Amino acid sequence: MPVAPSGPALPRHTVLVVEDDPSIRTLLTSALHAAGYAVSTADTGQKAMFEAGRGQPDLIVLDVGLPDTDGFAVTRNLRAEGVYTPVLFLTARTDVEDRIIGLSSGGDDYVTKPFHVQEVLLRIRAILRRSDMPPGGGAKRVPLRYADLELDEQTHEVRRAGLPIQLSPTEFRLLVCLLTQPERVVGKKEILSQVWHYDFAGDARIVDTYVRNLRRKIDRFEPQLIQTIRGVGYCLRAEHHGRGAAAL
Ligand code: CA
Repeated sequence: MPVAPSGPALPRHTVLVVEDDPSIRTLLTSALHAAGYAVSTADTGQKAMFEAGRGQPDLIVLDVGLPDTDGFAVTRNLRAEGVYTPVLFLTARTDVEDRIIGLSSGGDDYVTKPFHVQEVLLRIRAILRRSDMPPGGGAKRVPLRYADLELDEQTHEVRRAGLPIQLSPTEFRLLVCLLTQPERVVGKKEILSQVWHYDFAGDARIVDTYVRNLRRKIDRFEPQLIQTIRGVGYCLRAEHHGRGAAAL
């Protein structure tokens, strides 16, 4: 029996349940609802891919044996599309551990059937705690990309044209600030507040200094990506360099 939520509504984690056995699907759905989760469901691998993209769940409970494909293939496809939502596999098979480890995004786990529903709830809580994910955060683990620049907030790796670039923590935050709003002019005050968390008029010259350092590392390559908008701020934008090389 679902329990009526009490108190003010808090942001809830969303769990996608992928299971072709209707009795197990219903059991998990009502247990998750009762535990306060938002739930979406799918009964095939194809629907799971669709729901994972559309609903952006925080976690996927994924049956390994599905009618159209298996849960490992679904996970591989998700990872290939840059979706790193943690997965809790439901499996009747033994000897699956190696294959699951091979797919791990750092948040994955499994339970074998038959299971107690409390065990599944405990694993879900543990995964969400381990991956330190706020509700709705499941889809935001994709690396940030612009032109040939790539930044992974999880691993703190930055690459340009595939080459690794070492940044200091402040340079890293500055690049995140520009990369999350590409082609938009970001004012120096806004940068100060987002990168240095200054909520007052800090010294904007510190921004210029750090942008200069960042440019030395990021813009050793053509085309230059960090543009100065004089008197206003900075903008991440691939400019044409008159050689017809920049493809848009
Ligand atoms: Ca099944």
